Amino acid sequence: MSASSLKRRASRMAMIAGVGVGGTAPVVVQSMTNTDTEDIFATSMQVAQLARAGSELVRITVNTREAAAAVPRIRERLAQMNVEVPLIGDFHFNGHKLLAEHPECAEALAKLRINPGNVGKGARRDEQFAQLIEIACRHDKPVRIGVNWGSLDQALLARVMDENAKRAEPKDATEIMREAMVTSALESAAQAEQLGLAGDRIVLSCKVSGVQDLIAIYRELAIRSDYPLHLGLTEAGMGSKGIVASTAAMGVLLQEGIGDTIRVSLTPEPNGDRTREVIVAQEILQTMGLRAFTPLVAACPGCGRTTSTVFQELAQDIQSYVRERMPEWRLNHVGVENMTLAVMGCVVNGPGESKHASIGISLPGTGEAPVAPVYVDGERVVTLRGENISTEFRAIVEGYVARKYPVRQSS
Ligand code: SF4
Repeated sequence: MSASSLKRRASRMAMIAGVGVGGTAPVVVQSMTNTDTEDIFATSMQVAQLARAGSELVRITVNTREAAAAVPRIRERLAQMNVEVPLIGDFHFNGHKLLAEHPECAEALAKLRINPGNVGKGARRDEQFAQLIEIACRHDKPVRIGVNWGSLDQALLARVMDENAKRAEPKDATEIMREAMVTSALESAAQAEQLGLAGDRIVLSCKVSGVQDLIAIYRELAIRSDYPLHLGLTEAGMGSKGIVASTAAMGVLLQEGIGDTIRVSLTPEPNGDRTREVIVAQEILQTMGLRAFTPLVAACPGCGRTTSTVFQELAQDIQSYVRERMPEWRLNHVGVENMTLAVMGCVVNGPGESKHASIGISLPGTGEAPVAPVYVDGERVVTLRGENISTEFRAIVEGYVARKYPVRQSS
């Protein structure tokens, strides 16, 4: 079965300010800011950066009165920047109070994220959860019931453990933790429906930091409910570790048709670029054939046949060029995201791989004649040589985009 023919799990569709989540809608890319929400300028700027990088929903934390008051002003500032991306408010501990005191905050948000483990303790838990759901209903906002194993409802965990202890063959601690997370999500969703929130206004998530735990939990959620599911490995980590762990976990689930929105929770380097998490999420979906966002650049890894850095430099240059040009191409050229490029290091696989791409270039390996044949739609069209290969290759790419992808008609 090809990736593009993957059968998605049948879930309900939830509409989030015009963005379809679940049902037959494509898997949606989400991200989250790491600015102080009280800082309206910094948060608006980062939301805009994430949206421009391709995030289709952006979550912001709402943790103080000042942050709640800032939300509508962030929305206004985004409107001034022509950024319409839906905002999701992330609430813990005091969400019921903040939303009651700042109805304009609820109004400015497209969705509320509620963590059932952080709503309150004892009898207050149900009361405060009910207040949150009542506010969501009043403002007609969908809710993500977002369980996290770092803040799992302790009363519920104790109950699941007690029940387990009475079993003839008790489950082990890992299975109990997974069971408690799924139970927390499903019981909270049922409670929200009893309180009047429509089933198609609910999205579920159960985030953990272990790959096998995430896979097991979401398989269970997918069997036991038809709510749209938001996927993500929590605390995925930094750099390659975070990317690999997120891809391994989400790749398995997406391949099984599980997952309606995704977030890659990367820890950025100090002052690092937050948009990296958006690009990685897009690349997961695109390399699996589930969606197309931007032309993919295939490049060989290089080996002893590529002893100069020319090949790596060209691959990097083309990759950056495509990302740079994509905002304009996307606006003006229908289907450009499906273009494929290949930058290859020598004659061994270079011509063959290049012929499979929309445009491919095969650079000379060590000891080969200093020429670089270029293939367009499988045909060799020109041979580049000399100092300006990169500039000339970019010009070929630009010409191809202009010719091949019709100019988008403005409505
Ligand atoms: S295409 Fe050539 S340079 Fe690239 S990995 Fe293969 S043999 Fe090495």
